[in-house]
Amino acid sequence: GCSCPGFLRKNWLLLSTVVAVLLGIGVGMLVREYGKLSNLDKFYFSFPGEVLMRMLKLIILPLIISSMITGVAALDSSVSGKIGLRAVIYYFCTTVIAVILGIVLVVTIKPGVPQTADEIDRVGSTPEVSTVDAMLDLIRNMFPENLVQACFQQYKTKREKVEATTGVDKNSSTFTEEPVTTATTAGVLEGWGIHSFPGQTVPVPHHSNKTQEYKIVGMYSDGINVLGLIVFCLVFGMVIGKMGDKGQVLVDFFNALNEATMRIVQIIMWYMPIGIVFLIAGKIIEVEDWEIFRKLGLYMATVLSGLAIHSTIILPLIYLIIVRKNPFRFAMGMAQALLTALMISSSSATLPVTFRCAEEKNFIDKRITRFVLPVGATINMDGTALYEAVAAVFIAQLNDLELDVGQIVTISVTATAASIGAAGVPQAGLVTMVIVLSAVGLPAEDVTLIIAVDWLLDRFRTMVNVLGDAFGTGIVEKLSKKELEQMDVSSDVNIVNPF
Ligand code: ASP
Repeated sequence: GCSCPGFLRKNWLLLSTVVAVLLGIGVGMLVREYGKLSNLDKFYFSFPGEVLMRMLKLIILPLIISSMITGVAALDSSVSGKIGLRAVIYYFCTTVIAVILGIVLVVTIKPGVPQTADEIDRVGSTPEVSTVDAMLDLIRNMFPENLVQACFQQYKTKREKVEATTGVDKNSSTFTEEPVTTATTAGVLEGWGIHSFPGQTVPVPHHSNKTQEYKIVGMYSDGINVLGLIVFCLVFGMVIGKMGDKGQVLVDFFNALNEATMRIVQIIMWYMPIGIVFLIAGKIIEVEDWEIFRKLGLYMATVLSGLAIHSTIILPLIYLIIVRKNPFRFAMGMAQALLTALMISSSSATLPVTFRCAEEKNFIDKRITRFVLPVGATINMDGTALYEAVAAVFIAQLNDLELDVGQIVTISVTATAASIGAAGVPQAGLVTMVIVLSAVGLPAEDVTLIIAVDWLLDRFRTMVNVLGDAFGTGIVEKLSKKELEQMDVSSDVNIVNPF
């Protein structure tokens, strides 16, 4: 007989999301054509989409905290160490492969060679970042000095260097032009954050021990310090897992919190298709300059083909070799999460959906997902790494710069670091891009050449980032089968099925 009703029932969410995307594109094009909306109208128009984003972001904090703590607490510390190591090796290898793939493609296709930088319009302003400070910032974020503060949305400031500042000898050998970074995974520098307002001039300590003055020109929010929370939850989960009876009350508490969170996720999912219609329609109405897509066509094609090769050939192949199951079936199970990532360009905000797909559709062990997914969403970004490598070489080509082997290696290393440092929020990769550029001496302001098309590439690289995390759960689970089976059943009952 026909299994259609069964298929519909099982996949109604995915189907309604697909319908929502199509509807959003249709509505967006119609309104764009006939709507004549003012800027304010456009703003109101995408409001239901904004509400969806807010809901997804809202749930990230309890989700990450409860899933990480219970996930780690349910494992023996020897087992969690092994699983953690396997996950990190997987993250690292796939990221490096993505970078190499990106570089091979961009060096072969040469999207920047027929053009010069002057032919492309620059849009927007450059975030100011330097390599050393970006690295320090990454580590700084791992150890938030205030746990409560790490849970808040961080406000960061965009600033401009004030010329001819007092107290700085520009000719002294210790002075470098590099300003302090704000670009990595959240982390507000001391004295900054919500106390600084646009228009103000503030001194910023610099790693060369000098102080440079900056004028604040704008503010943006950069989400919560996920990396810092993850590090803390790892340690906390391990500790309460080892405390035995005394720690049990905490383990139970976080298990209950996790279940409650997952139930809220379920509710949000009902709203998701509605939000998506308006998100995508709003974006289509908003884009002003489609001409730039022609000018940057070859560059975009290079990034997109790299992402396509990585996600349809390389990752599936790795999965096939290790897990020996059909990778495309697995990817289909993740469809809802991949589509969500494409719509909202944020791996962190997609996390609730990624969890659901991995556990409910692909039946990955919850002890694995709880560890691999939150960490992966934060540090494992294959798509971003590939994009950073391609973009850096593209900008070099625009500048007529012949890259030597050393510079290519530098780009590879910094692109890897920049992808780890990028937060799982929209366009974070564009900001950390500046690290890669400055490492090989390219003009940092040249990121403005690719800003106009970044929103589109961001969606696709976020999708690949999420897919990489998903395959990671399958692979780490397979590699850890023995340990998981050996573990006593008593720790297994701590994991409650939220659905
Ligand atoms: N938006 C991406 C993500 O959330 C990060 C990036 O900008 O590359 O995974």
